[in-house]
Amino acid sequence: MATNYETFEYDVLVIGAGGAGLRAAIEASAAGVKVGLICKSLLGKAHTVMAEGGMAAAMGNVDDRDSWKVHFADTMRGGQYVNNWRMAELHAKEAPERVHELEAWGAVFDRTKEGKISQRNFGGHRYPRLAHVGDRTGLELIRTLQDHGIHQGITVHMEYTIVSLLKDGERVVGAFGYDRERGRFRIFKAKAVVVCTGGLGRAYRVTSNSWEGTGDGVSLAYHAGAELLDMEFIQFHPTGMIWPPSVMGILVTESVRGEGGVLKNKEGRRFMYDDIPDNYKSQTSLDPEEGWRYTQNDKNAKRPPELLTRDHVARCINREVKAGRGSPHGGVFLDIAWIKEKLPNSAEHIKRKLPSMYHQFMQLANLDITKEPMEVGPTTHYAMGGIRVNGDTQATNVPGLFAAGECAAGLHGANRLGGNSLSDLIVFGKRAGEYAAKYAKENPAGQVNDAQVAAAYREAVEPFEHPAGSGSEGPYQVQYDLQNLMQTNVGIVRLQNEMETALAGIQQLKARAAKVAVQGHLEYNPGWHTAIDLKHLLTVSEAITMASLDRKESRGGHFREDFPNKDPEAAKYNSVISKAADGTMKFRREPIPPMPEALKQVIEEMK
Ligand SMILES: Cc1cc2nc3c(=O)[nH]c(=O)nc-3n(C[C@H](O)[C@H](O)[C@H](O)COP(=O)(O)OP(=O)(O)OC[C@H]3O[C@@H](n4cnc5c(N)ncnc54)[C@H](O)[C@@H]3O)c2cc1C
Repeated sequence: MATNYETFEYDVLVIGAGGAGLRAAIEASAAGVKVGLICKSLLGKAHTVMAEGGMAAAMGNVDDRDSWKVHFADTMRGGQYVNNWRMAELHAKEAPERVHELEAWGAVFDRTKEGKISQRNFGGHRYPRLAHVGDRTGLELIRTLQDHGIHQGITVHMEYTIVSLLKDGERVVGAFGYDRERGRFRIFKAKAVVVCTGGLGRAYRVTSNSWEGTGDGVSLAYHAGAELLDMEFIQFHPTGMIWPPSVMGILVTESVRGEGGVLKNKEGRRFMYDDIPDNYKSQTSLDPEEGWRYTQNDKNAKRPPELLTRDHVARCINREVKAGRGSPHGGVFLDIAWIKEKLPNSAEHIKRKLPSMYHQFMQLANLDITKEPMEVGPTTHYAMGGIRVNGDTQATNVPGLFAAGECAAGLHGANRLGGNSLSDLIVFGKRAGEYAAKYAKENPAGQVNDAQVAAAYREAVEPFEHPAGSGSEGPYQVQYDLQNLMQTNVGIVRLQNEMETALAGIQQLKARAAKVAVQGHLEYNPGWHTAIDLKHLLTVSEAITMASLDRKESRGGHFREDFPNKDPEAAKYNSVISKAADGTMKFRREPIPPMPEALKQVIEEMK
């Protein structure tokens, strides 16, 4: 049976060609093994390309007080101490080296006057820390990795979608997927597989994520036996576009606030000054003048409250809107135009610092951000939860399976700091590639099981076999209903009864999804692709809801109106989800391993 499919054989197969996948593939290839790289879209088009603000690395180029210790402490504080502390340590220590490596590979970063890589302010980072290229950092990251990677002998399969991981006993030995252009299925045999499939924001109606963010890797790994970690922690970025409706959810980068942009309600009040959390009071400016100086890199000034962590800023916006103090289209105002009071050449300055934002608003909303405030509101942005990995090796609990990037969990705890994702991709993408190559060298190839391949094929093409009109429906309506269900009931503010409604609703949607019907051929069939994505979206939605129901406190991206405070006991565990033998989803709490004294001391010193 397996012989009916064209088969590719690799030592290491990387699924996903965003920043994490490209970096993993480069590292594995450098270790001398044969590497295949698969992506749903064209190479260079992965979601990473959309990243704007920058990558966080404590290089101290703009403020020499910065160090890995401050970065580590900021990341742990931002993640509200449920992070995998080992990952936070490695990330803070290794990010500068990874950024310099990108520079050596040709990345053209913005520069300081002295010619060093420039670093900008971002929420939750004590010092200017984000290496950037205007507000198009993701594009430069992808371009650099791609340029470097194509000389490494990596085989790239573009516009391929993996629908199932293949196993030999407990071990993952490859993947099964289809070629979107030709509509053909293929087998990919591999000694080690690295999942780097990015986020899952498409489980929600309002999201900044690209069409690829359907949680495929998280779901594929879960169904192959991998554990999922902290799925309740979803980041709602405070500033997405809200008007016109056709662009709702598109990101407005935090760099706007980093460059001096301020948030105001319809009364013109800078409402962020009304609510500064205790653990950030000592680091936050109490008057706007000091806040402005901070954005202009005055080392003696403290950050304005607009640059508090994303979870907090998003909830403050939500509160203003609910209290009737929002903007005409249900958000608040983000104003960078006001800096004309401070800078004589403000329009040119804004266009130079925020070129994408200027064009985005000009083209999509017919609004000139150098002259008028933007209307913004929270948008589903990032999954802190995902596949559980070993902090050093990025190995999952399934032999032969590794994960890195947004689909993996641990580094960010309950809330990710802006800029810590791009650095996550290069630090842990590298580690995943290194350890996957090591695994591939140490283990012989496994056997692909024909029955598994046949079952995966049948499941993938089943929607073609459901005749229209016999109780079946198209996949789009089911997808839309799921996104609405999650947006309404497991969104930025959560309640027990609403999440119970969501969990029951997901079961009903699963039944509907099992019957969806699609027409047409296997080549470039968006309806069919949506039917396949639906299964992943349902899996990740169930995991998010189940974990959110259990956590009866508010922490980071998980805010419960019925339990608005932090519970110190809940700071001691992570949420773990796995697939039971009967195929149902099971949940357990797992104690966070004790942090070494030396790291505890770092956190104390940086308070
Ligand atoms: C608008 C925007 C701006 C952002 N700005 C920043 C920023 O300034 N700084 C920062 O640190 N973070 C930022 N982020 C977050 C950051 O961009 C992402 O978290 C990160 O790029 C994810 O990278 P990744 O490599 O994990 O996955 P992605 O870049 O999402 O790549 C996933 C890859 O997996 C492939 N794939 C998915 N499913 C399958 C499948 N079934 N089969 C085969 N291939 C598959 C996709 O085709 C793609 O190639 C931003 C996010 C958004 C939306």
